[in-house]
Amino acid sequence: MKTIIEPFRIKSVEPIRFTTREERQALLKSVDYNLFALKSEDVIIDLLTDSGTSAMSAEQWAAIMRGDESYAGSPSFIRFEAAVRDLMDFKHIIPTHQGRAAEAILFSLIAGPGKVIPSNTHFDTTRGNIEGTGARAFDLVIAEGKDPQNLHPFKGNMDLDKLEAFLVEHGDAVPCVMTTITNNAGGGQPVSLENIRATAKISRAHNVPFIIDSCRFAENAWFIKQREPGQGDRSIKDIVRDMFELADGMTMSAKKDAFANIGGWLAMNDDDLAQKARTRLIQTEGFPTYGGLAGRDLDAIAQGLSEIINEDYLRYRVRTNEYIVERLDAMGIPVVKPAGGHAVFIDARAWLDHVEPLKYPGQALAVALYEIGGIRSCEIGTVMFGRHPDGSESPAAMDLVRLAMPRRVYTQSHADYIVEVFEEVQATKDDLRGFEIVEEPPMMRHFTAKFGKLG
Ligand SMILES: *Cc1c(COP(=O)(O)O)cnc(C)c1O
Repeated sequence: MKTIIEPFRIKSVEPIRFTTREERQALLKSVDYNLFALKSEDVIIDLLTDSGTSAMSAEQWAAIMRGDESYAGSPSFIRFEAAVRDLMDFKHIIPTHQGRAAEAILFSLIAGPGKVIPSNTHFDTTRGNIEGTGARAFDLVIAEGKDPQNLHPFKGNMDLDKLEAFLVEHGDAVPCVMTTITNNAGGGQPVSLENIRATAKISRAHNVPFIIDSCRFAENAWFIKQREPGQGDRSIKDIVRDMFELADGMTMSAKKDAFANIGGWLAMNDDDLAQKARTRLIQTEGFPTYGGLAGRDLDAIAQGLSEIINEDYLRYRVRTNEYIVERLDAMGIPVVKPAGGHAVFIDARAWLDHVEPLKYPGQALAVALYEIGGIRSCEIGTVMFGRHPDGSESPAAMDLVRLAMPRRVYTQSHADYIVEVFEEVQATKDDLRGFEIVEEPPMMRHFTAKFGKLG
């Protein structure tokens, strides 16, 4: 069959409240055009993030009921640990309440002033947790990964020559090498198994541990199966196990590829480091058999891990994004290609080329998508990255708008609706005006800034 249907039936539903365009215009004014300030019930299709927004399965809800809330040695932990180890065979598996808590523990132990940590591209919390210790974070993704139109199959790959040179230059100042799969900050682009293998080899040659930031490991494995020579006949599980056998440790957000609404973990083989990590864990998160989680959350993660590697799910998941990208591309809308695993990115600077970067074309597009269709997206551009610690402002490298897809939440007709809203924006896009920021906090302004519409 040509049609890839959602590989699930819907058993429990959450009504969407529809709003009119006039209502949305008033709502936009009331939140000073900052989409983070909207109430989610005023949003028709919420593509703000794919983090923690997954629909859990009937088996996950059943697992929630099996959750055991014993402080120590809960069977929920034993099921969680076994499910993780089945895919990622690390000696020590340490639950945390989110991915960033795993990062905070790891970097509190291995980073610090004078240290430098390379990655293909650090995610913003990873960078924050590294820089928070006084260390510095470096992004060494291949050049193709920074070109929105380049069709390279693995745009998340590490630039291996740069990594080698980096390790030679910095020597003992490098406590670990990281790779983020898929490369979230780089548009959800995958990393090949060959590149992970080479990164591990170079790291080992320099005696530096190799850590995978693993949030979207299943989507990454799906891309490997589809695109990497020799991988097409292998199971997702085998590919996943291969990826992690190459690593010395991992950080994970269960809010992504574990279908859970909360959770994460840190895993490693080094006994000494694990002992220190568990001590930190007890200080900051909780006892090592629950981390910052309830026993029921551990069970939801364990069940989610058995579902996320399902090929019918992954095919539907990635195809939804490809479909939207194909349709928008055919309309002449500049999109990041190929489609990423968890999101669709629109190049707002290129599309709304009459809005200067410092008038925030990404914000103009994100506001238009909400006003016209009730879609909440996220500006990833000059609003997010344009203000510098010294107070100056300059255009970000790109002005993108991200449509992040919650897992198992929306269907094909939602995807068609999204495309239609873009058709509507297309018809009037030359009338879209930029914005000014009338009030902003000293840091991370995109969350709380107030905007004014320019005439
Ligand atoms: C979401 C994410 C994190 C942080 O995880 P949280 O659970 O949100 O704290 C780290 N790295 C990447 C690549 C992510 O996508």
